[in-house]
Amino acid sequence: MIDARTKLYAVLGHPVSHSLSPPMQNAAFAALGINAAYLAFDVAPDRLPALLPALAELGFAGLNLTVPLKEPALQCLSDLDESAARMRSVNTVRMDGHAMRGYSTDGAGFLAALRAEFSLEVRGRSMCLLGCGGAGRAVAIACALAGAAEIRLANRSAGRAERLAAEIAGLPDAPRVSLAPAQPAAWREACRQAEIVVQATSVGLRPGDPPLVGADAFQAGQWFYDLIYHVPETATMRAAATAGARAANGLGMLLYQGALALEIWTGRPAPVAPMRRALQQAVYGDNLP
Ligand code: NAP
Repeated sequence: MIDARTKLYAVLGHPVSHSLSPPMQNAAFAALGINAAYLAFDVAPDRLPALLPALAELGFAGLNLTVPLKEPALQCLSDLDESAARMRSVNTVRMDGHAMRGYSTDGAGFLAALRAEFSLEVRGRSMCLLGCGGAGRAVAIACALAGAAEIRLANRSAGRAERLAAEIAGLPDAPRVSLAPAQPAAWREACRQAEIVVQATSVGLRPGDPPLVGADAFQAGQWFYDLIYHVPETATMRAAATAGARAANGLGMLLYQGALALEIWTGRPAPVAPMRRALQQAVYGDNLP
């Protein structure tokens, strides 16, 4: 029941109508018995500096930010948690009166998903990251900071991988970083040599997309995490499973970045099971895996 005491939360993005955060976070508030509503607003980047203080003024208690607002938000917030400062990106804002603090839960969400899906920690492991866009960068930096021993970067346009490699090399206790050739056809060997393979390109988003790499890029004992969550199993996940690798899709990363945001806002443990159910319902509808 929405009343005069209802706490307000929202995701801001541009566009934002595809966001799955409203069903996930509203399910969480319902499960916790918190009188709150979570909405979505389409906000162009140039409107963000004026809107953030206006939402705080209205009494909003927390926000998520999605593409393309995560980097512009850095200029709007004077108080950044270490997670946002290191990631150079903000996906969560905690509001308390006029005070606003920016966080990034994307990287920690990825690490939590690996833990939940595979009981896996990246510390000391070798990794191959396919795709160095916004999501791939968050994964790479989180894994570097979490103690991965070696990260091989593969990106279709070489400049992006080179910039990310330089960024990782500048981190404290940086892992060994190397670059795979830019052509996806040459990524097989880079995948085979890594213990953990992460797929962070947009390949697999469209139904019928072919696998990014084939079964010969994998072997038994490897872990394969595909950031795509729109289908329960992508063609690349099928290729990995055929070769005996363990494979998971990206729903867990989406879930845990949201669960960590909720914990920042409420200080309470996130009700992960109802949040996962709400996400699965929103993504897969009646075709629940
Ligand atoms: P982005 O910044 O636009 O990056 C897209 C990446 O995909 C780039 O590395 C791009 O390479 C690569 N790419 C696109 N088409 C390709 C192709 N045909 N072959 C090889 N590489 C190709 O997007 P993003 O935000 O990083 O998102 C990437 C994917 O992760 C999306 O599918 C998104 O849905 C998913 N994602 C999942 C989560 C989650 O919580 N599970 C969170 C965020 C994103 P170039 O640099 O060469 O263009």
